[in-house]
Amino acid sequence: MALIVQKFGGTSVGDLDRIRNVASRVKAEVESGNEVAVVVSAMAGTTNQLVSWARDIGPMHDAREYDAIVATGEQVTVGLLAIALQNLGIDARSWLGWQIPVHTDEVHGAARIRSIDTDVMRARLATGQVAVVAGFQGLAPDGRISTLGRGGSDTSAVALAAALNADRCDIYTDVDGVYTTDPRIAPRAQKLDQITFEEMLEMASLGAKVLQTRSVAMAMRHNVNLQVRSSFTDAPGTLVVNEDAIVEQEKISGIAYSPDEAKLTIQGLPDRPGIAAAIFGTLADSHINVDMIVQTAASEGQKTDITFSLGRGDLAKALEIIESGRETLGFDGVDAQDDVTKISVVGMAMRSQPGVARTMFETLAERGINIEVISTSEIKISVLIAAEYTELAVRSLHTAFGLDAED
Ligand code: ASP
Ligand code: MG
Repeated sequence: MALIVQKFGGTSVGDLDRIRNVASRVKAEVESGNEVAVVVSAMAGTTNQLVSWARDIGPMHDAREYDAIVATGEQVTVGLLAIALQNLGIDARSWLGWQIPVHTDEVHGAARIRSIDTDVMRARLATGQVAVVAGFQGLAPDGRISTLGRGGSDTSAVALAAALNADRCDIYTDVDGVYTTDPRIAPRAQKLDQITFEEMLEMASLGAKVLQTRSVAMAMRHNVNLQVRSSFTDAPGTLVVNEDAIVEQEKISGIAYSPDEAKLTIQGLPDRPGIAAAIFGTLADSHINVDMIVQTAASEGQKTDITFSLGRGDLAKALEIIESGRETLGFDGVDAQDDVTKISVVGMAMRSQPGVARTMFETLAERGINIEVISTSEIKISVLIAAEYTELAVRSLHTAFGLDAED
């Protein structure tokens, strides 16, 4: 007998028929003799609606009340799923975050899970009862409901799997796994049978939004057996595994892209210690995440340029901050561009295989695509390019790295 955590996302519980479909999936797991805890999201579209109501009611924003509002979506789906299961003859009970409880920190709206009390739930699971758990929510130290940030029910599921020491955590979604790239722009993308946590982390943070990035990091830390699969088909999904589980990888794993990027260049900065610290320090103080950074080398006594990329949504604020420091920083000018995309080649294979960068740069050069910024990690090479070339770049790289599916 195994203990399984299943997680169903918003589209999987999008209407009553779909909730009934989820119930039969859960039933199958119970009938194979397993103990099952199911984590669910709100019905597709519900959380968006709740968030906009919370915003539109008036100019005041109170994060505690925001949480009281947006956590309701999951309250509806756990109740419905529990009833759907009972109608199939399965003993099931719903659990809200505060009932378990899932203890979080005090950051309402973007809380982090601190611990989960599983004693009572374990006892119930042992009697064969299915626990239907509301994702996305917890209990803050102030005794009020907290939520984990958008997409947080993936994190709820992984955290619960870790706390219960579950044998598997199956994430059911509307795609049947993790792909070599986005199939919507590269129709020859293929489903990966497995991917390592490290690669998945890169893919997730680079815009392949199958799993919330935080949930992948947490699964890696706690060694949770993670699987992404479709709630609409029986096709096997993608296993997210430890590095040692993969014998040797010859191919790179995927091409990720992140469209909502912007680029900022500060021109003619004095080349002296403390300049970068001053710039990135003030940006960090305003919670602006900076991603790729390049500084041009300056010869003795010369000025230097610093270029960095950041989320498009932060560009206006970053510009304002930089401009306000013009006097103290003493630079000549700023150049901002908001029509750039970050394209990344990701794979453990590049640790053992030389020439990945070369293939990437040559492929882009052959298509006449200019590279504006480059950054690398051990298992990833990213470039910033003009947004208009996104599809061409993704498709060409997908082909160049031998990832295209055969006809
Ligand atoms: N319902 C929440 C959201 O839409 C949490 C989730 O679906 O993961 O962000
Ligand atoms: Mg989701």
